[in-house]
Amino acid sequence: MEKYSCETHINQALDMFVAETKEFPILNKITEDKELSTKCSYCEEQATYLVSSK
Ligand SMILES: [Zn+2]
Repeated sequence: MEKYSCETHINQALDMFVAETKEFPILNKITEDKELSTKCSYCEEQATYLVSSK
């Protein structure tokens, strides 16, 4: 499972991740050179972080 989040919603994303997966969340910052157009799961901002379990 992976969740994308902006700066504003990262705490919410981490909470949701733990609640849904019961796994320890690993926070990865999305680097600009990846040029991702992925949006935050909670708003329309471009995602800054990727939360995953590995
Ligand atoms: Zn957001």
